[in-house]
Amino acid sequence: MRKILITGALGQIGTELTTEMRKVYGLNNVVASNRRIKKEHEQLIESGPFEVIDINDPVTLAAAVDKHKINTIVNLAAILSATGEKDPNQCWNINMNGLYNVLEIAREKNCMLFTPSSIAAFGPSTPKDKTPQDTIQRPTTMYGVTKAAGELLCDYYFKKFGVDTRGVRFPGLISYKTLPGGGTTDYAVHIYYEALQKQKYVSFIQKGTYMDMMYMPDAINAIIDLIEADSSKLKHRNAFNVTAMSFEPEMIAASIRKFIPDFELNYDVDPIRQEIANSWPDSLDDSAAREEWGWNPKYDLDAMTKDMLEKLKTKLN
Ligand code: NAD
Repeated sequence: MRKILITGALGQIGTELTTEMRKVYGLNNVVASNRRIKKEHEQLIESGPFEVIDINDPVTLAAAVDKHKINTIVNLAAILSATGEKDPNQCWNINMNGLYNVLEIAREKNCMLFTPSSIAAFGPSTPKDKTPQDTIQRPTTMYGVTKAAGELLCDYYFKKFGVDTRGVRFPGLISYKTLPGGGTTDYAVHIYYEALQKQKYVSFIQKGTYMDMMYMPDAINAIIDLIEADSSKLKHRNAFNVTAMSFEPEMIAASIRKFIPDFELNYDVDPIRQEIANSWPDSLDDSAAREEWGWNPKYDLDAMTKDMLEKLKTKLN
């Protein structure tokens, strides 16, 4: 039976993953943790086992793994792209030293480990269209450097120590439950909030900038499906390209206008986030994930827009 510990569980992915995993594996088999309590997630914290764990504190981490007899760790604790550029030192410390601690504990205590990578693991010299699974990776952000190095480190722990490490390169994730934590694709979440609240949005990402995206229910399925995949079939253990759609701001605006005809999109480009976006792929080739563990997303842009607007409307009322 799986006993799962989720680190960084009070973030954008973790809040939804915890709820879904508790449905799949049982309430008491999924321990949520975060380096600090967040008041807005009080309900989640009180609804099942929860620990305060900073992944930069290996002693507390190891004690929680022992206490709850954990055999699977999902490491979501990280600093994201835009925040990472503001504080590269903190980004390295959490994304690399924190990951190292988690890997060491997975090795010592025989745990499977899932760690997400990102499209940020690519860089300006990577082929932009249909970016291959195995290609040039010369990222130019601290976040991207930690993601590319993290992929390699997880591969190393599998090859050298036999730790069952797995991961995907997530694109921008769009969800209505928890706001994103400082990424470059955050505009594609904010746009839905402001479409409902103000019927207009000012984008910090320039017109014509394509990036891969995915609706959160598909991302949650990707994590659970890869954790449950047959290990012998996985050739790309820690860095599967996964995507559901690729769009630029005008395309998401057009999709919103199918439901809110007066919606207006304007631009006030943030040079830092635009530079990050320019260094990332326009669209990913995710055929390895489809072949090796059956990846098959359900939501395209219009299906996502319809669901986002319906769910957000209820939430904001
Ligand atoms: P988030 O910023 O929303 O959440 C991260 C959580 O980790 C936060 O609750 C934060 O308090 C916590 N945290 C930070 N430092 C910590 C530490 N030292 N110890 C314990 N907890 C700590 O991030 P997210 O969007 O949920 O992302 C989770 C993972 O998925 C990250 O590895 C991220 O790089 C990856 N990812 C996310 C996206 C996306 O669009 N959200 C895209 C690609 C990859």
